[in-house]
Amino acid sequence: MVTRLYLLTLALCGNLACAAVPSVPTIPVVPSAQQVSPPQIKQTSSSQLAGEEVSSIEIAEWCRNLEAEIKKLGWTLPPCGGVMWKAEKRSVLGRPLVYAEFGDPSAGNSTLIFTMVHSDEVTPLYLGLELAQMLTRQAALHGAVKGSHVVVAPLVNPDGFFRRTRTRTNANKVDLNRNLATGDWERDAVRLWKAKFSSNQRRFPGHRPASEPETVFQQELILRFKPQKILSIHAPLNFMDYDGPANLKLARFPKEYVQECLKLRARLKAVSGGFFPGSLGNFGGQELGIPTVTLELPTANPKNAKKYWQQFFNGITTMIDFVVPVQSTFRHPAVLPAALTAEKSAEN
Ligand SMILES: [Zn+2]
Repeated sequence: MVTRLYLLTLALCGNLACAAVPSVPTIPVVPSAQQVSPPQIKQTSSSQLAGEEVSSIEIAEWCRNLEAEIKKLGWTLPPCGGVMWKAEKRSVLGRPLVYAEFGDPSAGNSTLIFTMVHSDEVTPLYLGLELAQMLTRQAALHGAVKGSHVVVAPLVNPDGFFRRTRTRTNANKVDLNRNLATGDWERDAVRLWKAKFSSNQRRFPGHRPASEPETVFQQELILRFKPQKILSIHAPLNFMDYDGPANLKLARFPKEYVQECLKLRARLKAVSGGFFPGSLGNFGGQELGIPTVTLELPTANPKNAKKYWQQFFNGITTMIDFVVPVQSTFRHPAVLPAALTAEKSAEN
């Protein structure tokens, strides 16, 4: 258990300091984004997921719709200016599932970032869009820098976001963070949903693993890009969690940081109640062996979104820059793709 915490120390203690428990926001605000050098990564467009390419017209429409929606939230950032968004898959209601790719796809240091898996938690979207804008500006300024690759998917659940009343779940009323094809899904997902969450509709795992196109989208990004680390941003539980391999050494980090994170982890256990069948931490971290950090922003209040970007900028860029010291942690999921294969077959 102790060694599971090594990457928690990376994300929490690298620049953010050890994080908070609900109602105790101890994460220091970073006064200025200029304090650290952002990663210098060139935007790329070489890699694509399997599937039919979504047209640039559809992506432009996605941009217009997104711009109109975030204006209602009081945000001024342009969601699409300059970013080479792309998509090959569509949501349940046919909206493009959009991502952008930066840097060298063959780089040893690769990071995959998801925001807005739960679409009633809007603050993470701001961070995802700002991050893509920042990486685009860096690419324009500095050109290619070898050794880094970043993939950002800022709106994993567009159907939940574009509804009049935003929803945690997708258009099929499935919780996309309970629907990934983990090995324990068939045995436990629905059983635990009933027993532990009283069949709460907000946490419905679906009728079968990877039944949703938005779930397959996440899985395909992971399986294709084989990131060395994954960051998924949610709100509003105000903590960070870590799932992943236990084979790195805590000795890399200052002792006092490790101790603080051990304390945090003990509190998290009490708060989060463990991990779940079909969750990203379970799929990416536990089963594929990819260090997976879940950042829960303190609130989902859109008025706080810009503050959170400034607050967490250092931590996110630190994570992007961090080279996972053990290579080849990715375990190809021989046991997992049954659902994925079924989904692909259904598409063909
Ligand atoms: Zn969430």
